[in-house]
Amino acid sequence: MGSGSQGQAAANNGRGDADADTGGAPTHAAHFVFVPLMAQGHLIPAVDTALLLATHGAACTVVGTPATAARVRPTVESARRSGLRVRLAEFPLDYAAVGLPDGADNVDNVPLEATRRYFDAVALLRAPIERYLRARAPYPTCVVSDFCQPWATELAASLGVPRLSFFSMCAFCLLCQHNVERYDAYEGVAGDDEPVVVPGLEERRVVVTRAQAPGFFRESDEWKDFADYVERARAEADGVVMNNFAEMEPEYVAGYAAARKMKVWTVGPVSLYHQQQRAATLAARGNAAAAIDADECLRWLDGKEPSSVVYVSFGSIAQASGKQAVELGLGLEASGQPFVWVLRNAHEYDDTARAFLDELEARVAGRGTGMLIRGWAPQVLILSHAAVGGFVTHCGWNSTLEAITAGLPVVTWPHFSDQFLNEKMAVEVLGIGVSVGVTERVMFQTVEKEIVVGRDVVEKAVRSLMGGGEEAEERRRRARELADKARAAMQEGGSSHNNLMDLVGRFKATTAT
Ligand code: UDP
Repeated sequence: MGSGSQGQAAANNGRGDADADTGGAPTHAAHFVFVPLMAQGHLIPAVDTALLLATHGAACTVVGTPATAARVRPTVESARRSGLRVRLAEFPLDYAAVGLPDGADNVDNVPLEATRRYFDAVALLRAPIERYLRARAPYPTCVVSDFCQPWATELAASLGVPRLSFFSMCAFCLLCQHNVERYDAYEGVAGDDEPVVVPGLEERRVVVTRAQAPGFFRESDEWKDFADYVERARAEADGVVMNNFAEMEPEYVAGYAAARKMKVWTVGPVSLYHQQQRAATLAARGNAAAAIDADECLRWLDGKEPSSVVYVSFGSIAQASGKQAVELGLGLEASGQPFVWVLRNAHEYDDTARAFLDELEARVAGRGTGMLIRGWAPQVLILSHAAVGGFVTHCGWNSTLEAITAGLPVVTWPHFSDQFLNEKMAVEVLGIGVSVGVTERVMFQTVEKEIVVGRDVVEKAVRSLMGGGEEAEERRRRARELADKARAAMQEGGSSHNNLMDLVGRFKATTAT
């Protein structure tokens, strides 16, 4: 460790919310320690799951870096005020120790070339987290770690408690990826675009390519040791917690549990925490700083016909290039459908793309047919408004499940990671999606090709999603049916509700703490 990092390491003992929050009277209650990946698509569902477990009587600690904690603090504070035993524990990274720029503590603010060093820095939090947990009652009874945090294996072992792998992913995706790896399905294929049938799926023929679904952290050989470490951690877990619901994909939940030989607790859709609890935090979910006033957004939507608006967002990491954004905008406008379009990186575009967006915004604002949100949008709030009728999504699992929960069909436009398999889930398994036909990965804007999907394709896909006709009606019917099942799963007696209760009961303390 370099001398410059000493001060930080000394300070790195963690800063948490008041101890009494998960303490108080001696109790046998379960105490789950969540170790999320510091990225919104992983953090948001982890926090929602912690809050759900807390509503069933558990104590929960969510660990995170300072920027991560700041994003979810309003949500956690609000839950604490309502009496839930949940706390945030904040740990700064030792930037100097691994050569990271100061403040690069969230996946979306880490320079691409420093990503590996970032994962190394996060792994160094193991000892400070352990010290923090040992110093405060109640003692943990279970670690729930994101599958991208393999070092949590050692944290749990050292604390002497079980560890569950947390996935905000569907079982279909996990089983496909698992089987492709377990049976070496890509072995000997001519190229990355060579179609391969996923082995071991009896009920369905699913075709993938290595270009689309290389495996977690298996995009390049540089990450091989980390990918193997992640796989070992997944194989050695004491169980799996998934943000999905059993009725959506019973065969794949059972298939994944059998393949891993471990119990799977399906506990979603966890976004329903906010709606069920009528939490005031729905608008600020996942980011304290939304780019638009929620009321303004709702007022705009209130003026639209039911199911007429298409919502467009690529989540918290994926980005469209400036040229791609222009094509997307023109396609949306040509579809004639009112839209809410979220652009997370518009400020980085060149003058041409920025001027286009300003002109488009002026045109659609004048007609009242479009709204551009440059930054963080209150996504679940928007999706649950009656005026919204469809979602153009990058197929991040949270977004896909949030669409399902709102009963919305989707246009699928995957970029990377699990998104291509989630697209197959939406289009082929659930029958609620229209694909724009992307065949290659676009990673953090590093792809050479700037326009992946042309304006005509966007227009056609949106018209098909939002229009009439038997197929469109059928997609809507299926989406509504899934939404009903999702809500039922989370209600008393429902499968996810029961699994949450089971977790709280099964991992309670053996002695009072
Ligand atoms: N999200 C949001 N507002 C935004 C962008 C994203 O609330 O402007 C939320 C979205 O509701 C979802 C999460 O961030 O819960 C994104 O997760 P997902 O798995 O869809 O995609 P990722 O960002 O991980 O690629």
